[in-house]
Amino acid sequence: MERIVLASKNSDKVKEMRLALQELPVEILSLADFKELPDAVEDGSTFEENAIIKAKFFSEQTGLACLADDSGLEVDALNGLPGVYSARFAGWHADDNTNNQKLLDELKKINVKESAAAYRCVLAFIDTNGTEILTSGKVEGKIKTVAKGTGGFGYDPYFYLEENRTMAEITTAEKNKISHRGAALKEMILKLKGRFR
Ligand code: IMP
Repeated sequence: MERIVLASKNSDKVKEMRLALQELPVEILSLADFKELPDAVEDGSTFEENAIIKAKFFSEQTGLACLADDSGLEVDALNGLPGVYSARFAGWHADDNTNNQKLLDELKKINVKESAAAYRCVLAFIDTNGTEILTSGKVEGKIKTVAKGTGGFGYDPYFYLEENRTMAEITTAEKNKISHRGAALKEMILKLKGRFR
């Protein structure tokens, strides 16, 4: 059975991706299976560039086909920020809590309690022959300054869907049906199905 390594150290992302990729007849590994690999230098200015950087880097490091995700939140009232800086909005040692606090601080500065927003995701698949496949997905919603829910990760408790539910109040399977990553994964699975039969 062919093997694909998921280029993410974010265990929540890996969980979502593993669930969606179950239907492919491949063995899914993650960076947790390769101890002490260096980090990729994510210095691209778009989700696409960063996804390709990660997929190429970890395919070379592991000698396997690699699927990388680069994703983030774009808030209209903040002119699209945090965007590609989503993981490190509060600085290089940021975590979900400090990033969420930074989001609330930035909205407070401009006196905004609610703004249209979207999550975007780009997936890059690169194999050892250099074949490159890109897919993307987007989900629109609202950022509000009141957190709800304990599921998901990142900005999910502040990302409101219809019916006033947040992305942190739904299951992983439900999230995959509607999310930016779910949409990008669905398209990627269709493109990979022909290869892995
Ligand atoms: P990356 O790992 O460099 O692609 O950074 C992704 C960052 O975007 C994460 O650390 C989160 O802050 C944010 N993000 C991406 N997808 C999601 C999601 O599904 N829910 C919440 N936050 C997300």
